Amino acid sequence: MLHKSDKRLLTFISLMPIALIGIFTLVLNAIVIHENQTKVGSLIQSLYSDALTQEKGRVKQQVDSIYEQIIYEDNLAEQTLKKSIQYRIEDAYSIIHFIYQQNEEKTKPEIIKLIADALRQTRFNDGRGYFFIYDMDGTNLMHPIFPEYEGKNLINFTDIHGKRVVEDHVKMMREKGEGFSQWWYPKPDNKDEAFEKIGYAKYFEPLDIYIGTGEYVIDVEEDIQQILLAWISEVRYGDDGYIFVFDHSGNILSHQDKSLINTNIYNKTDINPYEFMNTLNSKFDDNNSRFSKYLNRLDAFNNGSDSQLSYIKKYDKWDWVISGGVYTDTNKRLLEKKEKILIQQNQEELKKILLLTLTLALILTLLSLSVSKYVAMRFNKFQDRICNDFKVLEKTKNKMQYMALHDGLTQLPNRVMLESRIEEEIVKAQQSGKMIALMFVDLDDFKKVNDHYGHDVGDKLLTLISSRFSHFIEKDEIVARFGGDEFVFCFSNLTSQQDAELWVEKIQSVFENVFSINGKEITTGCSIGVAMYPKDATCSSELISKADIVLYKSKDVHKGASLFFDKSIDEQVSYEFSLEEELKNALDKREVTLVYQPQIDTKTGEIYGVEVLSRWCNNKLGSVSPVKFIAVAEEIGMIDQLGDFVLQQACEDIQEVMPNGTNAIMLSVNISPKQLIKKGFLSRIMKIVSRTGIDVSRITFEITENILISDLKSVSPILLELQKLGFGISLDDFGTGYSSLSYLNILPITEIKIDRSFVSSLFTNDQSESLIKAIIAIGASCQMTVVAEGVETKEQLEKLKEYQCDLVQGYYLDKPLSISELKAKYA
Ligand code: C2E
Ligand code: MG
Ligand code: MG
Repeated sequence: MLHKSDKRLLTFISLMPIALIGIFTLVLNAIVIHENQTKVGSLIQSLYSDALTQEKGRVKQQVDSIYEQIIYEDNLAEQTLKKSIQYRIEDAYSIIHFIYQQNEEKTKPEIIKLIADALRQTRFNDGRGYFFIYDMDGTNLMHPIFPEYEGKNLINFTDIHGKRVVEDHVKMMREKGEGFSQWWYPKPDNKDEAFEKIGYAKYFEPLDIYIGTGEYVIDVEEDIQQILLAWISEVRYGDDGYIFVFDHSGNILSHQDKSLINTNIYNKTDINPYEFMNTLNSKFDDNNSRFSKYLNRLDAFNNGSDSQLSYIKKYDKWDWVISGGVYTDTNKRLLEKKEKILIQQNQEELKKILLLTLTLALILTLLSLSVSKYVAMRFNKFQDRICNDFKVLEKTKNKMQYMALHDGLTQLPNRVMLESRIEEEIVKAQQSGKMIALMFVDLDDFKKVNDHYGHDVGDKLLTLISSRFSHFIEKDEIVARFGGDEFVFCFSNLTSQQDAELWVEKIQSVFENVFSINGKEITTGCSIGVAMYPKDATCSSELISKADIVLYKSKDVHKGASLFFDKSIDEQVSYEFSLEEELKNALDKREVTLVYQPQIDTKTGEIYGVEVLSRWCNNKLGSVSPVKFIAVAEEIGMIDQLGDFVLQQACEDIQEVMPNGTNAIMLSVNISPKQLIKKGFLSRIMKIVSRTGIDVSRITFEITENILISDLKSVSPILLELQKLGFGISLDDFGTGYSSLSYLNILPITEIKIDRSFVSSLFTNDQSESLIKAIIAIGASCQMTVVAEGVETKEQLEKLKEYQCDLVQGYYLDKPLSISELKAKYA
């Protein structure tokens, strides 16, 4: 099952790529379009600017080449002039020479007349050119323009600049025979003004005359200019480019449109004279040229456009302004065509790109759709798998959680859960002000059930008891298996200890009925220790520990008892604690001492032996009974240490006071079964015995009968070993255990010690008497020494003597004595 958020995620996963592709395509297309348009824009711009640059270059080149041509032609003018007049004079000279040859016989004046007649009418250079002839004395012989000069001596003639023209000619003729000269002279059609002239003259020696001609420089220039202007008006470049020339005054000197020649730009209505002047007066570059936008306007009257650019170059010498138009309009049309093509090409390209991106986007969309579909499918599968895994996990987790909090056998809550439940109940109790009773329940003799019926039955018994427990508790109450055969109950909402006592009874009632397991009927009981909240403890661990202590104490009282925690128990516990602590150092502090209680032979009345007994006097705890501290020493694992000390000390003492020999007395040493089963016990005692030198046969080890049962298996081989080594073995406190008699058969016992309880009740309890009699009889039949301990009265002694008890021991005979007392009395 998919959650709403998962569904949304799936939709998101499937739509996201499409949206991304869409956005990507849009952005890409926008970029492509933008890029394309920018590219087209810049292409068009560069198309135009390139064309303009090209056009500008072309017009500049054109104007510059025309300018070059003008300079060239201008420079050539003088040379041309000179050459042409020289040719003319050479021609005339030939004529003169010819005439002279033909008329050699004639007089000089006659020949000169013939020559004059021949040459007078000769005109050239548009009628401006003519010949003149002078005699070498400066007399004019022919002058077609000023005939009045003929016959006159003009040797002193000067031009407007004071040049002696004729004199200079004559001089040059005499020196060189021919040559060029320069002077200023009026024109035939303008005699009032003088113009610069370049002339050529040649001396004709036979007649001692010279012939000359001249040409006005200005005329030649004008000719050249006219030729140039005519040529310029015909110059074309590009498709419709042309050059035109005007002067500073605005007169159009050359133009492709001939009708415009000699018209004035100022007269054109669409020309702003001021602007025009401004253009001409603006700064020109070093080549006296510049591009001008304004001058396009010059063409405005020609082709109605004002969007052209002109290149103008001034030739100041002739006051010419040469101009060429960059005919952008025509170009524009061309360019517009190109632009259209370019745009079209670009649009095609763009279309292709867009088509490609759209196709790509479509493919990607389809691809992403199928991928997302696949992902969704996988996702669903994963989801299902995860769901299943989660279920399994959840189950396992719950199971583990349950296992972590419950006992595997009984399914009751375990210690962990118990503690947290107790804490919860404590919180509730804090609010309600009610009490809580924590009951520690321990099954009595459960070990026996296990040993007797087997663990399987033991487990079933625990399960049965657990189910009976869980049946009678209510909702807020807790029963937990604490471990082994221990159960803990927690009862809350109590108002008094009496409430708790009712629960104790209920728990005990569970054990009233027998438990039938595997066809066997088992009866068992329990001991209960109770701790109350808030009186005894305020937290779960403390409550449990106090209930445990009190349980332990109740077991001490008797099995099946129940006990409530109180101050005395608390004190007892702390006493036991300090007892433990003090005992650990007791040997080092030499606090443990030994006393010896004599055992008297009833037949002789003599001392037979002594029983060594430990005494511990601590400055904090005072005198502590060996019953207590031996048990503690067993618990804390220092019994072997203590035992070794006792044996060592006793052997030393006895050897010293009553050494081995015929009258040597016996030594009885109490041994704890725990001490017996400790590794190396035998080797240790042997070491002590050999070190002190006491006879092994003098030593009897007393083993308390009622403790023996638990360690029988491990103890009996050691006892056999002891017997082999020669030690005596006494069964102490005989009659207090369960199987006293059975031990006599299986263990290598050499002595029986009747427990003092039987001796003390010898006269009050018939059973005691008969038991004593029986023990003595058994001892006699089994060759075992029988000792009666706790003999306190004469009557008891007499009776025991009567029954033929071997040895007696007790206060009536002797209290336990220090070694020195023993020595003083018996050595
Ligand atoms: P037990 O071996 O039965 O020792 C005899 C106990 O009876 C001694 O008590 C002794 O003082 C006491 N007793 C002797 N005559 C009389 C009497 O006429 N009337 C009364 N009421 N009591 C009498 P004690 O010394 O307190 O020792 C108690 C027990 O402690 C011993 O019982 C023995 O089992 C154990 N014990 C003592 N010293 C040692 C020891 O060094 N090692 C071991 N393992 N146990 C020891
Ligand atoms: Mg004893
Ligand atoms: Mg005893």
